[in-house]
Amino acid sequence: MTGGLEGYDAVAEANAQKSVLAIHWSRICERLKVEVGEVEYRTWLRQITVGPVDEDEITLYLPTRFLRDWVRGQYGDRLGTLWNAEVPAIRRVELQVARPDAASAEPVGEDAPTPDIPVAHARPPALAAAPAPVEEPRQAEVRSDLAAPLDPRFTFDTFVVGKPNEFAYACARRVAERPSSPGFNPLFLYGGVGLGKTHLMHAIGAELLREGRVSVAYMSAEKFMYRFIAAIRSQSTMEFKEQLRSVDVLMIDDLQFLIGKDNTQEEFFHTFNALVDAGRQIVVSADKSPSDLSGLEDRLRTRLGCGMVADIHATTFELRISILEAKATASGVMVPAKVLEFLAHKITSNVRELEGALNRLIAHANLFGRPVTLEATQDVLHDILKAHDRRVTIEEIQRKVAEHWNIRLTDMSSARRARAVARPRQVAMYLAKQLTSRSLPEIGRKFGNRDHTTVMHAVSRVTELMEQDPAFAEDVELLRRMLES
Ligand code: ADP
Ligand code: MG
Repeated sequence: MTGGLEGYDAVAEANAQKSVLAIHWSRICERLKVEVGEVEYRTWLRQITVGPVDEDEITLYLPTRFLRDWVRGQYGDRLGTLWNAEVPAIRRVELQVARPDAASAEPVGEDAPTPDIPVAHARPPALAAAPAPVEEPRQAEVRSDLAAPLDPRFTFDTFVVGKPNEFAYACARRVAERPSSPGFNPLFLYGGVGLGKTHLMHAIGAELLREGRVSVAYMSAEKFMYRFIAAIRSQSTMEFKEQLRSVDVLMIDDLQFLIGKDNTQEEFFHTFNALVDAGRQIVVSADKSPSDLSGLEDRLRTRLGCGMVADIHATTFELRISILEAKATASGVMVPAKVLEFLAHKITSNVRELEGALNRLIAHANLFGRPVTLEATQDVLHDILKAHDRRVTIEEIQRKVAEHWNIRLTDMSSARRARAVARPRQVAMYLAKQLTSRSLPEIGRKFGNRDHTTVMHAVSRVTELMEQDPAFAEDVELLRRMLES
């Protein structure tokens, strides 16, 4: 007999054995689900893959040592009994750690597809056999095979919480603690660039993996699209789908990227539905709320808005200070409060730029061994500061605000005190303070020679109103974004 035909028989036999085992295993899974409950089952037992039978012993694989030990401790005996009841010849269960992706192309499991009809050029039996046991558990269950790695710096501990992000933070924490809770699935995070969406998503992932209970896949919408297109090209869309649908928590970042990409959207929609229907958690981020993401299919938008929608607002001065303090402390470089305040005043666009500026200061201090002073800061960051100064003028702010509330531009500097005019004027002053580096007296002068205390009052009044009235806050944020872009 030729080697090729030997291979054929062995593969055929291995496949036949697998399909028989798969049937038994799916029956055992049904019983386990009833016995231990859906959640427990999903958390611990679903990740089992069935390996070969050797005499009276069957090998079961789990992806990590942690899971293996837990399952052995909690369910080892029960698994033995159930297998024995199904297949009397099996008397023992051996639990091993093995990479799930190495656990063969056709996993033997409840969802396993029927085995391929063996063909002459099938893989040699050695390869068709059991997965390679691995000594060390994989880095928990990040599905790095299909997703991007998580940035270890982005955790809940390093996320500074303040008014603008506390709601999003609380939702993210909640999802990390109890994924797939009704009302929190999907979790939709939105906000402008550099405000911490990606940070929060990675933090959710890191937290879940620390607990070691679930498999997590994080990727940008862009990467999702590339993976999908690559799968179509290599005719492996089924595999792509299977992979995605096998995770417990799927996180897609920057969903706005899918606008106009109809096929990818369609695929995402189906993946989304399959996962949510199976009780898995979805976390999505975008730069706008679901209802504002025009260009996204209606049915997808509707489903995205069905769980929890949480926005991250632009930073406030207080939050910027807290973030700077936290990051300065973490760096170990002494940065005077004056410098932190200066930065928080000047760099208002987003946390990423704020962080970038601080990092540059710190690098400079470390490199030259000189203390950080206000002067040095202005020097080291002069290009950044210039760019921010140039960004918006008070005239632009006045024009946009007047347009927004439909008042005359001249009312910005008029003496009229009617609410319909006075409120927009206060908003313009507030934005002038936030978005430019002009001093309070300078701003006052541009608003019909008003006193600096009037500007101060406007800033605190608007801040207060934004806290009380979400619709008003949204208006102001919108204006800010328009002016900043
Ligand atoms: P987004 O995804 O919304 O564009 P990121 O999550 O990438 O923003 O955040 C940009 C940078 O700012 C990251 O380095 C992140 O760690 C940091 N950052 C944003 N918000 C916070 C926060 N509240 N506390 C600490 N760091 C933050
Ligand atoms: Mg991001």
